[in-house]
Parts: sequence; C-alpha cells; structure tokens
Amino acid sequence: MGLAKGFGVTLRQMGKKKRVTVPYPEEKRAKPQRLHGRHVLNRYEDGMEKCIGCELCAGVCPAKCIYVRGGDNPPDNPVSPGERFGFTYEINYLRCIHCDLCVEACPTQAITETKLFEFSFANRQDAIYTKNELLVGDDGRAKRMPWEYWRGDEDDHTSAWMRATSSSGRSDYEGRVNWSGELGFGVRAPEDGQTVDSNIALAPTHATESHNGHNAKADH
Ligand code: SF4
Ligand code: SF4
Repeated sequence: MGLAKGFGVTLRQMGKKKRVTVPYPEEKRAKPQRLHGRHVLNRYEDGMEKCIGCELCAGVCPAKCIYVRGGDNPPDNPVSPGERFGFTYEINYLRCIHCDLCVEACPTQAITETKLFEFSFANRQDAIYTKNELLVGDDGRAKRMPWEYWRGDEDDHTSAWMRATSSSGRSDYEGRVNWSGELGFGVRAPEDGQTVDSNIALAPTHATESHNGHNAKADH
C-alpha cells in the first residue's frame, strides 16, 4: 500500500515540471557570458605575443599557481613589442580557483580566461599548462589539449573579455566596450548595460547553445 502511494506521488509529479537536466555530454547548456574557464595567452594580429613577462599576474594570484619568468627580447627577432617577453609561463590547474585576478592585473590583456573548463587529467604534469599550451595558435584560438573535452565552436568568443573593469582602469570607461580586436575572435558584442563606441567593429555572434560535433584535435 505504501509502495503504491509512493509511486502515485511520482506519477503525479511526472509531466508537471519542466525537465531541468540535459543529456550531457551530447547536449550542453549555454555557458554564462562571463564564465571563467581555462586561460589563454593572447597574441597581436601580427603574431607577436602580448605577454611582456612583467609577473604582475603571478604576484596577484591568490593561489600562487602562476609561474612566469621574463626574458629580454632578441633585438633582431623580438617575441613581443617592447623590451621583455614571457620566457617561461605556467599555470597549475590543480590550484587555480578561476578568480580572474590575473586577468585584471595584466597590463597588456595578454592573459584572458576562456569558457573552456572540461578537462580530465590523467597525471599531474598535464594539469600544469605550459606557455606553449596556453599560447593561442596562428588562428588566434585556444589550442585543444588531448585531455580537454570541448567541441565544435565552443571556443568562440571566449577570450579577451573576462575583465570586470576597463583596460585603462579609468572609471569613465566603466560600462563601455573597450577591447582591442583580437586574433581569431574580434571584439564581442556589448553585454546588458554596456555601450559600444561606433569605431569598434564587433565580431559576428555565434550560437553556443549546444554542440554535437566532436573534434579530438590535439594541437601541441
Ligand atoms: S584565475 Fe585566479 S587563481 Fe587562477 S591563475 Fe588567475 S589569479 Fe591565479
Ligand atoms: S600575462 Fe600579463 S601580467 Fe602576466 S607576465 Fe604577461 S604581461 Fe605580465
């Protein structure tokens, strides 16, 4: 009797409520606009690296998971504009709490966070991303590691946006889109409450609701 009563409750609830789960991983929910995922090291359109090896990101990181060592740019073959570049750059994802403070601290927008967060490490070394793994490819997009699970266009518009404040730090820039164009991504459309200067060319928007195409490219 008690069993029938229990099933009765279940049956009454079935069909009453909208399903809140999705059949992951075949279907994925749209990610929040400002989700903090794994980082990329960005480059300029001419291929130069944006990182100048200043170590501000490492200094501000509360989890102490960034290791940077700067080096002098070779005068005849510079890696970045200016005197210095990031010679060594590592992030330990066993410790990162994705607080974004490193992104806030970076004076050149060299480091930003993508929306990519699905990775499964088989060993500790894979969890420590090297500079080569973090650096965007020639197309300006994140390199896909073999242990990362993201597909299709999930990396679209995930970079160079995850700062809460303006790049200049001036309060009169708050609420304005003030990002420079970025290799492979362009400039994202403004969010609610933001305006965009007319001289900024925005990147086209892409659907990111669900992604079914699997791409197991390993690019390192
Ligand atoms: S997101 Fe936060 S914890 Fe992660 S590397 Fe940046 S500053 Fe450190
Ligand atoms: S990522 Fe930015 S803050 Fe970190 S060392 Fe490079 S330029 Fe400096």
